[in-house]
Amino acid sequence: MSEHRKKIYVETYGCQMNVADTEVVLGVMDGVGYSPTNEAAEADLILVNTCSVRDNAEQRAHQRVSELKEHKRRNPEVLIGVLGCMAERLRTTLIEKNNLVDLVVGPDEYRKLPKLVEDAYAGQRGIAVKLSRVENYDDITPLRTDGISAWISVMRGCDKFCTFCVVPFTRGRERSRTLKSIVDEVRKLSAQGFKEITLLGQNVNSYHDGEYDFADLLKNVAEVDRTIRVRYMTSHPKDMSDKLIETIARHDNICKYIHLPVQSGSNRILKLMNRTYTIEHYLGLMQKIRPLGVLKEMKYDGAFMFKYSPRENTKAWDMGDDIPEEVKVERLNEIIKLQEEISFDLNRQLIGETVEVLVERDSSRSSDDLLGRTDTNKKTLFPRENAKVGEYRRVKVERTNAHTLFGKLFPGVN
Ligand code: SF4
Repeated sequence: MSEHRKKIYVETYGCQMNVADTEVVLGVMDGVGYSPTNEAAEADLILVNTCSVRDNAEQRAHQRVSELKEHKRRNPEVLIGVLGCMAERLRTTLIEKNNLVDLVVGPDEYRKLPKLVEDAYAGQRGIAVKLSRVENYDDITPLRTDGISAWISVMRGCDKFCTFCVVPFTRGRERSRTLKSIVDEVRKLSAQGFKEITLLGQNVNSYHDGEYDFADLLKNVAEVDRTIRVRYMTSHPKDMSDKLIETIARHDNICKYIHLPVQSGSNRILKLMNRTYTIEHYLGLMQKIRPLGVLKEMKYDGAFMFKYSPRENTKAWDMGDDIPEEVKVERLNEIIKLQEEISFDLNRQLIGETVEVLVERDSSRSSDDLLGRTDTNKKTLFPRENAKVGEYRRVKVERTNAHTLFGKLFPGVN
């Protein structure tokens, strides 16, 4: 007689680390009879995996948790839990302030979920928010929902303590999985037909398992299956070594896309931020990576741009916030406009070129079109013809905007 499996619904906010953590949570709960559902209304267990990087991320999570109460009204048996960085930062206040919340579990305590859920069904609301110096979940098989691209957390935590950032307080100290455990996982993913692997870490290039550094890891992962594209994020300028840059250049299947936060173009601000590098050092790295004011000088293909959001308990919180909101908005709009022009300019240079894309999914605009990505991470839209998700196809670029290339399939599958 088939076992009655319960349903788990997880809503994930924030960075790719949280996306990968949700797959670990689904893997842990799969082991105790929970199957994922995309419908909160069907779920026995509803979890919100949260982000604390900026205040509005937390406000959105609070809002979402209160919206989920309708499911508890419909079925009082339903359990609601808060996971991730906000759970770690706010801890018991989440339970004290909100009688909707049955569980509060931090990023290093997901193994305890089955027991906490069991206790919560018995009426005992649970909290587990201890940070670990060793936890890597490397023996847990994430329950992956995407069959093309896989995320692998190769390390957890951050030791950099940038003065504006909560991550070291919500995700603890840096610890890296062994190179062997990661390469074994990549072999399994290759056998399962995955086409792209992204290695994740708060500071992925400070990976070190005691024997091997990140350049060694990237090389070994790339050599498992050369038909798999390898990506990684997020890097820190301080750990971008010549060895790493050479390893990227030497392997065709390591994507030529580097996400390298600059944070500020001013050495005075970089010092206040405790970023441990100067703008000269950063620009020097860029010269090595791409033989070029920072945005105008660097000509990034794309950029993540946000207003500063003071975070409690960070050193920057004590420095106060002396920039009026309207000035922040003005400055942010200025760099967004400049970056849009630069991205459009760079994309325009690809018109008439043929680019190789990994076909990822149907276009959300039209079912006649497919969406793929170049190894430089450029979104590319093209008419479907005989292309299939998971294939590498060549596309001739016909037009573009700042964010997307538009083109037609080039005859023949790669
Ligand atoms: S490097 Fe700095 S900004 Fe990035 S996660 Fe660590 S403390 Fe935060």
